[in-house]
Amino acid sequence: MRSTPVLTVRKVGAKGLGVFALTEVPKGSGVIRYYGKSRWIWDIPRWEWDHLFQVEYDRYVSPRAGSYGWSINHSCGPNCGVRGERELVAIRAISKGEELTFDYSTNVGWDGFQMVCACGAPDCRGVITSYGKLDDRWKVRYEGLVSPFLLKPPRNPRPTLF
Ligand SMILES: [Zn+2]
Repeated sequence: MRSTPVLTVRKVGAKGLGVFALTEVPKGSGVIRYYGKSRWIWDIPRWEWDHLFQVEYDRYVSPRAGSYGWSINHSCGPNCGVRGERELVAIRAISKGEELTFDYSTNVGWDGFQMVCACGAPDCRGVITSYGKLDDRWKVRYEGLVSPFLLKPPRNPRPTLF
């Protein structure tokens, strides 16, 4: 636990909640960690689904409601990326007051996933998809910043909803 909070959760208009830096965050800093037991999607209440962090093709962690992990928004031009199975890291220096974001596609393994994006990044994709549906340009951009399970073939060959 840090003694001085570095992040805070605030309302951000139509997007609901967002995570903001209270101080400058140096590039490379671990900023958010997803704790807790991983579960199968159907063992997780539906109202939590928009906030899950995926750790395997069939396993998700649900952050505590209102926590940093619960509240962080997507951007197609993010300042955070995935490191290891359960951590988000600052991929550039983040200024005091800036909103923290990561690209949800670097954590989504279900190819049925689709979410409209209006993040405002200059090269916003317009639709957030699974990692598998990103074109190579984006995969190169996020090399080393993707959930590790996404780089392996699915463990379970039968079709699943998640
Ligand atoms: Zn976008």
